[in-house]
Amino acid sequence: MAFKDNALEGKVALVTGGSRGIGRAICLSLSGRGALVAINYRSNKEAALETKKNIEDSGGKAVLVEFDVADAEQSKSAIESFAKDHGGLHILVNNAGVAINGLLMRFKSDDWNKVIDINLKGAFNCAKAASRYLLKARKDGRIINISSVVGETGNGGQVAYASAKSGLLGLTKSLAKELAGRGVCVNAVTPGFIETDMTAEHLPEDQKAKLLETIPLGQIGQPQDVANAVAFLAGPEASYITGHVLKVNGGLSM
Ligand code: NAP
Repeated sequence: MAFKDNALEGKVALVTGGSRGIGRAICLSLSGRGALVAINYRSNKEAALETKKNIEDSGGKAVLVEFDVADAEQSKSAIESFAKDHGGLHILVNNAGVAINGLLMRFKSDDWNKVIDINLKGAFNCAKAASRYLLKARKDGRIINISSVVGETGNGGQVAYASAKSGLLGLTKSLAKELAGRGVCVNAVTPGFIETDMTAEHLPEDQKAKLLETIPLGQIGQPQDVANAVAFLAGPEASYITGHVLKVNGGLSM
């Protein structure tokens, strides 16, 4: 079940990590509300092209924008050139992320840097590059940061990932205060366990059954569950909501 209306007609959106998983569902949902969507990806062009095709098959418009969110210069030049070519930018969804797990004693500094650079600094890089366009969009301007339930609760074995996702909540609330004067709303979504490549990689089948017992709603979430929250926060219905952290976790953490 997804929004299907024209509430974002004429709006331009950029979704980082839009090629696969949650990002793909977000791209399709924003397009389903009428937005022109920029699908950012880093390396998997084939997956990004499939997202674009899905959007076009359902009557929407999308373009691919390749850059590494961890690289400030690349992010700036790609976002500026996309916004110039498409009449601005109204909605930025900072979704790109990676998880590298491991206990503190054995966790490598390089892995710490990589996780922080992509998940947290990446969102800063993109927000900074997009801010002048979002400020021009005024009350239509939105930033939506995809954090995680572990950013709220912490998680053993995920020091870097949980720190980055907690940092995103600080970034969300600080930017919400900074940009509110121009009407721009900044919110975060904290998904629980969602069925994507990321969880398939880190969650073996036997652990899945155990995990299910801890989720009050009794099921693993789907990318569409997160996309619905983003499509709501991006839309006109959410114009008086800023600095909010919206949990999409089946009750895993309340
Ligand atoms: P995924 O299936 O692994 O997809 C990750 C996406 O991020 C891909 O589109 C990938 O692009 C992109 N990406 C990775 N590094 C990038 C970089 N440096 N620059 C640009 N794009 C980059 O992950 P997912 O499960 O959909 O997760 C999406 C977001 O939700 C992440 O921020 C994740 O932390 C968060 N989240 C996920 C869950 C979950 O249970 N799945 C729960 C809580 C939060 P390529 O295709 O080019 O590699």
